[in-house]
Amino acid sequence: MTKHEILKQYFGHDEFRAGQEELIDAILAGRDVLGIMPTGGGKSMCYQVPGMLMDGVTLVISPLISLMKDQVMALKNAGVGAAYVNSTLTIEQLRLVYRRIREGAYKIIYAAPERLLAEGFVAVMQEVKISLLAVDEAHCISQWGQDFRPSYLRITEFLDVLPYRPVVAAYTATATEFVREDIVRILGLRSPFTMITGFDRPNLSFDVQKPKDKTAALVKFIRSRTDKSGIVYCATRAAVDKLYEELTKRGVSAAKYHAGMEDAERAEQQEDFSYDRKTVMIATNAFGMGIDKSNISWVVHYNMPKSVEAYYQEAGRAGRDGSAAECVLYFSAGDVMTAKFLIENGNENEELSPAERQQVLEADMARLDAMTGYCKTTECLRGYILDYFGQPHGETCGNCSNCLADYIDVDITTEAQMILSCVRRVRAHLGYAVGTALIVNVLRGGKVKRVLDLGLDKVKTYGVMAKTEPMRIRSYIDFLEREGYLRVTQEYQTLVLTDRADEVLFRGETVTMPMKQEPEPAAKEPVRKAGRPVKGAAVPSDVPEELMTVLKTVRLRLAEEEKVPRYMVFSNAALEDMGRKRPHTIEEFLDVSGVGSTRAAKYGAIFLEAIAEYERNEE
Ligand code: ADP
Ligand code: ZN
Repeated sequence: MTKHEILKQYFGHDEFRAGQEELIDAILAGRDVLGIMPTGGGKSMCYQVPGMLMDGVTLVISPLISLMKDQVMALKNAGVGAAYVNSTLTIEQLRLVYRRIREGAYKIIYAAPERLLAEGFVAVMQEVKISLLAVDEAHCISQWGQDFRPSYLRITEFLDVLPYRPVVAAYTATATEFVREDIVRILGLRSPFTMITGFDRPNLSFDVQKPKDKTAALVKFIRSRTDKSGIVYCATRAAVDKLYEELTKRGVSAAKYHAGMEDAERAEQQEDFSYDRKTVMIATNAFGMGIDKSNISWVVHYNMPKSVEAYYQEAGRAGRDGSAAECVLYFSAGDVMTAKFLIENGNENEELSPAERQQVLEADMARLDAMTGYCKTTECLRGYILDYFGQPHGETCGNCSNCLADYIDVDITTEAQMILSCVRRVRAHLGYAVGTALIVNVLRGGKVKRVLDLGLDKVKTYGVMAKTEPMRIRSYIDFLEREGYLRVTQEYQTLVLTDRADEVLFRGETVTMPMKQEPEPAAKEPVRKAGRPVKGAAVPSDVPEELMTVLKTVRLRLAEEEKVPRYMVFSNAALEDMGRKRPHTIEEFLDVSGVGSTRAAKYGAIFLEAIAEYERNEE
């Protein structure tokens, strides 16, 4: 079998996504790889496909126990021998799995990193041929990453006790260079083929809003999407409880999830959401690790998260089936304070020395700054994220609130005069130029020591923009620089006037700046506006609604019969394609995207019959 046949037959996908094929080819050629892909980017294909083509077994190290179970279930469902080994198994189950491993029953085995210390496990692994060792969430090996796991350090020891060294493939969604280097070094990857890819999720739209009343905005948002599921992420447990209560009071039926709840209740709430009994989940970031619910249509962040990594991972839980989905962030200045507080008080990793802790704190603060930048940028939001992850992109995406915002020309001549004049006067006063931060401080009439020490409170423009937000003044300064009225010196990053500034200061030139028109926060429409082409987003459905209802009903029935969530039968995207293609034979059914031969054999006839019946009624 070829890799394409495996992809189609076992997983039902027609094509590889960007980056998958390159990584698979490198592995098949016997080379170590480092794959950097976002969550949901399709990392598992990058070890499952080669794993099935290589002789022997593929061992997957993953810290996510619930994910393991889902993946193994999905593999079995697709007809692949797979098993997992972790702390949830009883002794009897463990013995059985070990025996079946020895018998060669499995092609793909998932294990939690703690297993690498267990003698029994290591002994079994020494007896079978491991061709590929796949390390998922490989950043857990780095102390500077966000979720350091000491047991990951055992991977190298484990490799050393194997009879021979398998190909090692590491995968992560981590952005920082530092962590990536750690992965290569500590895992001992041998000149790995490295691929950064797939961070773009064109079917997701991005939107940053600053609603005055977040709850009101949210209720309105949810009410106009009653048939869709979504997640609301809050920064703290208390915020989850409070929002849950408020929404319930207003008649929104929601589930909630955070680490402070009883296990049983949490499991129940999660199930309500997974099985679509409740369409809204309010949660802290504890929710979602390993949740592979593919029909989540929106994710709202009620508070700003601590890093772009965290944001993108959480927002990225929307639209995993490829249909258009919305990612909205409600930003308020208070969110920055909360995030700082959480960072300063949340780092209790006892394995770290005070100096190391300080370093982690600084790394966290830098990540927070980048996140805050996302909330404030006026440029393409998608572009901002892709920049952060190191992936090239076009200038605009046409599917984020900044690209779709209406811009109006605003006359900022007065503001420009104040700023340019301030730069000029400060320089005359001091005899040298200073940077943006100090200029902003002087304009706002700041009382910081440096301003007072330098006597800048005596300068004539001191405090003339006291009522303007610092961010706004900065955006004026950026604009004046782009337009050539100001220049930032290379060496010291100081602001100096250009000749063109004189036109504004002395010769009556006016300055207009395009500014985003802030919509009424609560009345804001979803990002996709009628009549505007949305590049890369899923096309609106051309399948009759009735047919979709028929297909969804069949899926629901099958899901309930088998006691699996609906997306385990077929994703929304697959149903949509089924509705479009209207297959009449099993061959045609296999052509539907997302349909593999196992599930075709299992469910095909039932769907074919439903489609045929629909068509008879249509005539
Ligand atoms: P990750 O492990 O990177 O978080 P997964 O491997 O779970 O992501 O894949 C996310 C989703 O993408 C899954 O629903 C999977 O079926 C789908 N997927 C992966 N590869 C492809 C592909 N080549 N074509 C279509 N869908 C794919
Ligand atoms: Zn954009």
